[in-house]
Amino acid sequence: MKRLGVLGSTGSIGVSTLEIVAAHPDQYRIVSLSAGNNLPRLKEQIRRFRPQLVSVLCPEAAAQLRDDLGDDGPRVYSGVEGLIACASHEQIDMVVTAVVGAAGLIPTMAAIEAGKDIALANKETLVTAGPLVMAAVARKGVRLYPVDSEHSAIFQSLEGHQRGDVRRLILTASGGPFRDSSAADLERVTLADALAHPNWNMGRKITIDSATMMNKGLEVIEARWLFDLPAEQIAVHIHPQSIVHSMVEYVDGAVMAQLGIPDMKTPIAYALSYPDRLPLDLPPLDLCALQDLSFAEPDLDKFPCLALAFHALATGGTAPAVLNAANEVAVDAFLQEKIAFLDIAAIVNEVLDRHVPAALDHIDDALRADLWGRQEARRMVAQKS
Ligand code: MG
Repeated sequence: MKRLGVLGSTGSIGVSTLEIVAAHPDQYRIVSLSAGNNLPRLKEQIRRFRPQLVSVLCPEAAAQLRDDLGDDGPRVYSGVEGLIACASHEQIDMVVTAVVGAAGLIPTMAAIEAGKDIALANKETLVTAGPLVMAAVARKGVRLYPVDSEHSAIFQSLEGHQRGDVRRLILTASGGPFRDSSAADLERVTLADALAHPNWNMGRKITIDSATMMNKGLEVIEARWLFDLPAEQIAVHIHPQSIVHSMVEYVDGAVMAQLGIPDMKTPIAYALSYPDRLPLDLPPLDLCALQDLSFAEPDLDKFPCLALAFHALATGGTAPAVLNAANEVAVDAFLQEKIAFLDIAAIVNEVLDRHVPAALDHIDDALRADLWGRQEARRMVAQKS
């Protein structure tokens, strides 16, 4: 029996995680759940999974939830303290971190420090403070399993092979809804256009990141730390069908890939059950029914966010934290229809330009850079809106 904490339980990854748990009640038990503002869904999850503690975003929501649940409900916390409590409870074996954005960093670090294994669905944690997080994982002797589909594919393609034999990692990218759009089309993109992802059904933030291809940029940085390989050994291929989830090329030219239908339950289940495989009730991959599988180089001029991420990774230190912070603010402003689609890349570019990178010696360095990046980006959003 593995005892789980699920941070971000009402989002897309959280819901899929709980569906897997519900299908395998003999193997998993939920100890804690944390959610943002979706109280109706959280209440449903509490009734179904009976966690010992839950956390929500703000004290007002926590008070409301305590009222609604009465005396026999779980303990209810809020804010960062609540996330930390849900990440580090003594009965938890593994924490699924599926909160959105750099907000995942503090609870993920708390879970690692408390000796919990991590199923990481929050890529911003490694983007913001990758070397510090991986050092803590090594120091505490815990396991960190990727949930991101590309990194799960690479993790699976590395199994049984020697790390020193890797020539490069090849991350695949669908290219998002604007893969074939012209530069002129991109100037007229609406919020609804950007939210219509062709293959994956995901939360709003990551869907916009997919449309700008910042998502792939964040994933390159995530891969750099997760697999301890320099950026020069990480490539990106556009693969519109989202069937090959990523690949590892070895020094003898052999390429290992993991394929499957685009459904996050497969990588979530592998992180939960490694090294075993859980039977899942998903339609099989029917390769014969597919017309073709195609691959292409990404267009860095059309998708400058991908180039900016490579640039921030090459700069190092606090630059990736600033890239991520500026992007979170810009995407949020786009979701509120305060800025245009192309303003996202422009804002990230300008904030990175103004940043004087510093060394990343302590988690506070990452948090400070994150705060600075947000302030700068908010200032630019105000100028544009
Ligand atoms: Mg991904």
